[in-house]
Amino acid sequence: MTRRLGAETLVIATHNAGKLKEIGALLDPYGVQCISAGSLGLPEPAETGTTFVANALIKARAAAQASGLPALADDSGLSVTALDGRPGVYTADWAERQWFEGPPGRDWYMAMGKVEGQLVALGEEADRSCWFSCVLAIAWPDGEQAVYEGRADGTLTWPPRGTMGFGYDPVFVPVGDTRTYAELDPAQKHAISHRADAFAKLVAEQFAA
Ligand code: IMP
Repeated sequence: MTRRLGAETLVIATHNAGKLKEIGALLDPYGVQCISAGSLGLPEPAETGTTFVANALIKARAAAQASGLPALADDSGLSVTALDGRPGVYTADWAERQWFEGPPGRDWYMAMGKVEGQLVALGEEADRSCWFSCVLAIAWPDGEQAVYEGRADGTLTWPPRGTMGFGYDPVFVPVGDTRTYAELDPAQKHAISHRADAFAKLVAEQFAA
């Protein structure tokens, strides 16, 4: 039997205020009080795993051990079939500018261009299917853990389209639609996304009557 969350406060293992808000809103209906690892001053562990599951568990375990409270972490990214699953766990790294590419920071257009460049190099027939993954991991201070994996399949389009969303949204066309994630109303995206899929699995197991 998987451990279920009780009345304790849940630490959200993120230093990203946007993620805390989004996750807090999703868990609010279930009476879960959330606090971020950032606001507790917990250090951010290095994401040294080679899978989304490994990295989500690294973040959740570190926050649970440091705080003595259950902790929830997520890890997500884009995998491209023809690129053997890359950028995968390195999705955010592909957006990181090198010293010769401009000021330090992330450039999502550059990252989308790198993916497109590698696909084009494979030729016109290259398989443009891809998927977003989202793994949610809960860790308890005594070492117990639970993992929920979400996925959203789609195809890559070029050039990028749309102004909503973030990251790789302008090149991701979800299966069953012709619009990119960045052209969808945020509520429409949230209803079908990899994050929604992982949260539905978490809610079904953690909060089912
Ligand atoms: P992390 O989960 O914070 O490590 O971020 C992984 C990266 O994957 C993000 O920085 C985004 O670029 C990308 N990513 C994850 N989910 C989405 C999404 O819903 N749309 C676009 N990009 C995403």
